[in-house]
Amino acid sequence: MERQLKVEQDLLESQQRFKTVFEASIVANKIINIDLKMVQINQALCDMLGYSREEILGSTILDFTRPDFIDLWYDLHEALWKKELPAFQLEACLIKKDQTEVWVLVNTVSFKDRGQTMGYTSLVDITNRKLLERHKDEFISTVSHELKTPITSIKSYCQLVERDLLKDKKAEGLDKIRRMNAKINDLTSLIADLVMASKIESGKLRTKSERYAMDDLINSIVDDYKKTHPGRIFIIDKNESVITMGDRLKIGQVIENLITNATKFSDRGSPISISSVRKDGSIVVCIQDHGRGISPEEIESIFNRFYKVKEAQSNNEAGMGLGLYISSEIIRNQQGKLWVDSKVGEGSTFCFSLPIIS
Ligand code: ADP
Repeated sequence: MERQLKVEQDLLESQQRFKTVFEASIVANKIINIDLKMVQINQALCDMLGYSREEILGSTILDFTRPDFIDLWYDLHEALWKKELPAFQLEACLIKKDQTEVWVLVNTVSFKDRGQTMGYTSLVDITNRKLLERHKDEFISTVSHELKTPITSIKSYCQLVERDLLKDKKAEGLDKIRRMNAKINDLTSLIADLVMASKIESGKLRTKSERYAMDDLINSIVDDYKKTHPGRIFIIDKNESVITMGDRLKIGQVIENLITNATKFSDRGSPISISSVRKDGSIVVCIQDHGRGISPEEIESIFNRFYKVKEAQSNNEAGMGLGLYISSEIIRNQQGKLWVDSKVGEGSTFCFSLPIIS
């Protein structure tokens, strides 16, 4: 009897502790049932949304969510209920009662309560961080656009000088101007990457939809690389004849980026292999090098914007860490996937798959 009382007392205290922590937290908290309806919320959530407890309880958080986030949030819940995910995290935008926006970092886990599936969510206000990110993106976008015009003029002048020097057979000057031209090309492609990244970030990436032969595209890119990288071995292992639908130019950029990285991060003497194979209604294109490889911890981040692995940072290697971010976004935009298999010291294989027509 005494033990029973003690158990009940402990339970009560534990419930009280949970209630205090849940309620007093400055982080917005909510508990939902299987229908996503909010059955318990704290004051911080009411303050965040500007609605009273009564107005919120019984509704779902999706009723307060900006429409473009609803599908993703709903799908994550589905995956959570089906136990495909143990928990999920996402950044989303909510609409307050006064119709202003609040950005939140959402963390949800599921748990069982008297046999019922429930969810616990914490929502942290990240509006200030999002605002700063937006300012940074706008700054990058303005600067890169402003740089484009003068660089284009410098390039044209450079070409004119090169033509004059060629006419006058001034070999020494010609060599210098060609080096200058190469540097201007590097600068142009860095700026093009910045412009592209800010287009992606602001959702303004426009892509064409045209039929093209993937094998032709690969052949022409590899031929160009053979010309511009004499002494380097490029091997086309397999190049199946397929027609795909999408933006040929942008997919070409992805292939070029992957081949450029393969040349950048492997020894000059080691070969680079390219293959293109049909698999389950898709074409899978792979670029393999035998270079320094990427550690499993870094693989997680290399597709993020402005990410360079530590080694690349300390060696001051050219590049802003945008190439793989842009490539993965282009592939995603064309309903495909981009991934990598890599082993430190042995090399990397970057592959992407795209749907095919025939
Ligand atoms: P960057 O343009 O700076 O090279 P990327 O987005 O293309 O940026 O690549 C991000 C990082 O991934 C690079 O810093 C590089 O260290 C690593 N990386 C990319 N491709 C390879 C590769 N084939 N082998 C080894 N490391 C690579």
